[in-house]
Amino acid sequence: MKRNFIGGQWVDGARSVPNINPSDLSDVIDLYAQADVAQARDAVAAASAAAPEWAATTPQQRFDVLDRVGTELLARSQELGDLLAREEGKTLPEAIGEVTRAGQIFKYFAGEALRLNGDLLPSVRPGISVEITREPLGVVTLITPWNFPIAIPAWKIAPALAYGNCVVFKPAELVPGSAWALAEILSRSGLPAGAFNLVMGSGAELGGALIEDPRVQGVSFTGSQSTGRRIAQTCTAHGVKFQLEMGGKNPLIVLDDADLAVAVNCAVQGAFFSTGQRCTATSRLIVTDGIHDRFVAALIERMGQLRIGDARAPGIDLGPVVDERQLAIDLGYITSAQSEGATRAFGGQHRERDERGLAGFFLTPALFTDTHPDMRINCEEVFGPVATVQRARHYEEALALANNTPFGLSSGLCTTSLRHATHFKRHAQAGMVMVNTPTAGADYHVPFGGRKASSMGAREQGRYASEFYTTVKTAYTAA
Ligand code: NAP
Repeated sequence: MKRNFIGGQWVDGARSVPNINPSDLSDVIDLYAQADVAQARDAVAAASAAAPEWAATTPQQRFDVLDRVGTELLARSQELGDLLAREEGKTLPEAIGEVTRAGQIFKYFAGEALRLNGDLLPSVRPGISVEITREPLGVVTLITPWNFPIAIPAWKIAPALAYGNCVVFKPAELVPGSAWALAEILSRSGLPAGAFNLVMGSGAELGGALIEDPRVQGVSFTGSQSTGRRIAQTCTAHGVKFQLEMGGKNPLIVLDDADLAVAVNCAVQGAFFSTGQRCTATSRLIVTDGIHDRFVAALIERMGQLRIGDARAPGIDLGPVVDERQLAIDLGYITSAQSEGATRAFGGQHRERDERGLAGFFLTPALFTDTHPDMRINCEEVFGPVATVQRARHYEEALALANNTPFGLSSGLCTTSLRHATHFKRHAQAGMVMVNTPTAGADYHVPFGGRKASSMGAREQGRYASEFYTTVKTAYTAA
């Protein structure tokens, strides 16, 4: 049984839930304690009590803590990657890569603790100087989704601590294993008791206690649009600063002049790697007439070569869908696309067992052609290995189709035209724009996030993370 970490102590929960391997439903990884509302409040109280001490630490002390965590994550990337693949279902190389990235993020923010800068400006009045400094918010609640069980927690926890905040961390109920492992490393990292707290359990049940408490000064959330909207309302009602990263409906435009191999590669990696369970996954392929048939044929050929199965088996390209609920959602969209008249050009079959006979939530990657912009499959986020193709007559029409979505996370273009690439970078309505590279797959030291319905609040990652995790103070001194 893995327990919660509150006020520097490991504590039992009100109940426990099993963590089940989606590649092998007979494999129960462990039992994880579920906190109740009183324990969530205890965690906020512990973080609040620790806040003055942690805020008063030197940048060097914060550097040392975060650097230690980063070093351990990098050293244990194989072991923790195996756990991540086992609980979430992304392939072992992807999972090891995610743990490595988490380690790099901690190391990056260790350095950022030393680099938090302010400003010194002359006053408009004589004899006065103006200092602008950044201070920690205080207690921040961090709520994360299941699809990046260690990287997303890392890119919230590391900057929160680097800039002097105390943390209450609620991971997704579905993937507590990686979150618990990260918490265990943090528990030995030299943080004062209460500076970091792990509260596992249901978001719907604990959300109120973790957000509405007047001791909480900031909420950073990554997850679905529907939950995000609810959290925005609660934070607004209680005057809490918030940052939301939500879903996408990410397009990849393929123009006649694209390199076919590059375009197919971008489509396969963007749409189907990580079983399509990425906020930045390509879900709409917008292809101009001159390359449409060649592109679709080449893509189907590549899709036929993808191996689906146990996430930890060698040579697997796509692991399972994360759970039964997500599988039902994916299959529902596959059915609705067909009923709206789209052509199922490839895949979309549920397989109850992989090639070795393991029972899991396996789904072959699906491609729909002959689709229209107003079909449900082109409007709503699926969050599975499902992509559509829409035809366009030329670049301008393709760009209009790409921007024709309430979301604005990542947007891609495959072309060899510098003119179109330059225009696209300026006019794509997305927080991240990708030219000849998949819509999914971002660096960890630069801003990550979207616009429109995909994001609200300050950007995550890189030095821009200080915008959310600090508050600005302007001090006037008369000489
Ligand atoms: P979700 O259902 O919205 O859950 C996200 C987190 O919010 C979980 O920890 C969940 O807890 C918690 N939660 C649920 N209801 C809550 C409430 N009322 N108050 C407070 N917390 C609450 O999203 P998901 O299914 O885990 O993740 C998939 C979504 O995340 C997709 O839409 C994807 O696009 C998005 N995503 C976005 C980004 C990005 O950076 N833009 C990155 C990754 C994923 P429990 O589920 O444990 O109960």
